[in-house]
Formats: sequence, C-alpha cells, structure tokens
Amino acid sequence: DSAEENEMLKILFQYQHGFIISKIMFTACELGVFDLLLESGDTLSSAAIAERLGTCHLGMERLLEACVGLKLLRMERKDNEGLYGNTDLSNLCLAKSSPKSQYCYMKLQSEQLYPNLQYLADAVREGNAQIQSMYVTPSKDIFEAMYSSEEGVQSFSNAMDTAWSIYGQEMMSAFDLSCFPAVCDLGGGSGALAKEYISLYPNATVTIFDLPKVVKRAKKQFVTSEECQISFQEGDFLKDSIPEADLYILARIFHDWDDDTCMQLLTKVHKACKPGGGLLLVELTLDEDRSGPLEAHIRSIMMLLFNNGRERTFSEYNALLSAGGFKEIQFKKKSFYSAILGRK
Ligand code: SAM
Repeated sequence: DSAEENEMLKILFQYQHGFIISKIMFTACELGVFDLLLESGDTLSSAAIAERLGTCHLGMERLLEACVGLKLLRMERKDNEGLYGNTDLSNLCLAKSSPKSQYCYMKLQSEQLYPNLQYLADAVREGNAQIQSMYVTPSKDIFEAMYSSEEGVQSFSNAMDTAWSIYGQEMMSAFDLSCFPAVCDLGGGSGALAKEYISLYPNATVTIFDLPKVVKRAKKQFVTSEECQISFQEGDFLKDSIPEADLYILARIFHDWDDDTCMQLLTKVHKACKPGGGLLLVELTLDEDRSGPLEAHIRSIMMLLFNNGRERTFSEYNALLSAGGFKEIQFKKKSFYSAILGRK
C-alpha cells in the first residue's frame, strides 16, 4: 500500500543522501560553527556567525538551517530573527575544545575517506584495497602510504585518539586486568588508550609499540603526569621482535589486516607473552548472524577499501585466538566496541 511505499521511499532518500548529511556536518565543523557557538556561550544570529567566521551570510544561513534540521544546532526566534546555539551533541562531540571532541576523526573522514570512496566499486570488484589509486607513491600498506607526510601521521594519530576519550575507560575496565603488571600496547599510536589504562591500573607500566614515525611524533607531544609509567618503542610488528609483556593490548589492529597477517602477529605475540599472560583485543564486532550492527558493516567496508582488513564476529576472533594458542577466551560487548581476552 502507499503508506508502506512511502516508508520505503523515505529510506531510499536517506541512503541516497547520507553522504550529503556527512558533508554538511563536516563543513560546519571545518568552518568552526560549533567552536564559535561553544565559546560564545550564547545564541548568535546567522549574520553574526557569518561575520565572525568570515563567510557570506546567505551561505552560512543555509548551512545553519540544515544543521538545525539535523539537530546539530537549535534555533529560537527572537524579534523576527533566528538565533542559533549548539545542541548537547555538538557541544560534546563536535566542538574542538570539548574533552570528548570527535573533530579530528571527522576531519580525517572528510579529507581522506570521503574522496576515496570513489574507489569502492573497484575494491568490491577486485576484493582488494585501492591504495594504489589513492596515493601516487607505491606503498606496501595503508600506513606506509598515509605516513608519507608528517601531516599524515599527525592527522591519523589524532583521529584515532578521539575514540578513547569516549570509550577508553569502558574498554579498559571490561575485564579486571589488575593481574597484569607489564603491558604492551601493540600499534598503540600516541598512547591515548595507555593513559586510560594507567588511570585504572596505577601499578602497571605500559610500553607503546608502533612504527617509528608514529612514535617519534607521539613522544614529541606526549604530556602526562604518569609519564614514567608509559614508554615508547619503535618497530614494525610484522618484521621486528616485540617487547616481552604480561598483557598485550591490540586495539583496532586485527581489523586492519587479513586472517593470515593476524595469525602471523598472533604467533609472535604468543611467543613473547609471559606464561599466564594475556591478550586483549578491542574491536568493533559483527553480530554472529552478520546482520549488523551498521557501524561494523560501515567499518568493514572501510577496511576493505583501505587495507584488505575486515570486521569480524566473536566466533571468528575466537577461532583466530585458539589457533594462535590462546585459551580461556572471553568476550564482552560494551556500548560500541567489544573486548576479547585470551590467556596463554
Ligand atoms: N591502537 C590504536 C587505537 O586503537 O587507537 C591505533 C589503531 S590504528 C587503526 C592502527 C595502528 O597500528 C596505528 O597506530 C599504526 O601506526 C599501527 N601500525 C600499523 N602497522 C604497524 C606495524 N607494521 N608495526 C607497528 N605498528 C603498526
């Protein structure tokens, strides 16, 4: 009937234009709309916002109205003039200065993911990542390609950190990890998760192991009162030996790689892991029937496009970890990511 058809067409419209919704949000972020409204602490007219941000009034008004429609801004009428303010979501996640800001992740998506989605059909056709179309210099993997510039290292590391301001505590407390004094965060980037770990387990030490370019940049910017508990080691986890530890954290590492590469890494971790030690994976997991969640499907598509990686179900992680010699494998799904713990 026509009500059903209307519902279907609504879904079609949403899917068809989903990328425009993203771009509206990215554009408002890029132009500084949410920062201005957070700093001003008051509602502002579109003319005032346009003037402060150096844009045309007409263009800004159009963008602000769309943001109201998306509930990224609110608008109240006063003396026949619209006054705009941030919604709670924008104050929390879109303004740069918020402690839980997702701005840097948004920026990476807008600048790198958005244009490169043009290669998705090729990735699907070939069942392969499309790094060679995205970057001029040939690279063995997406990290070598992305890290060819200092800016590439910076923007990726910053984007990765944003997740842990929201989910870090939840993931590091999913299991009681207090029995592991020496921890190695493999591919631990700039150490955002390591800081969360130390705040929960103050007696632990964490070694962050990552590629030299990432470590060099992280060390330069690393500021924390727990500095002596967190150290960095440069290396390639596919080629070099890794530090000995009681617990290995691999957060969003396996999803970057195919099963063979994961097994290669697992074997290395199992060898280096102290007896009785553990391995903690933090990943976005697919439901067992693979029907969702949408976030995992979206990420899985991204992983195919960029590095031949994939999101997996718990059963798939369980099989990998068992094959790698880990036992007593436990699984906890939290609000967004899942934690998987195995023991040697
Ligand atoms: N674990 C961090 C997190 O969840 O925020 C970062 C995840 S990011 C998707 C993957 C990380 O693995 C990056 O920091 C990257 O530099 C690192 N990485 C990639 N290939 C690597 C390699 N061969 N050796 C060491 N680190 C590597």
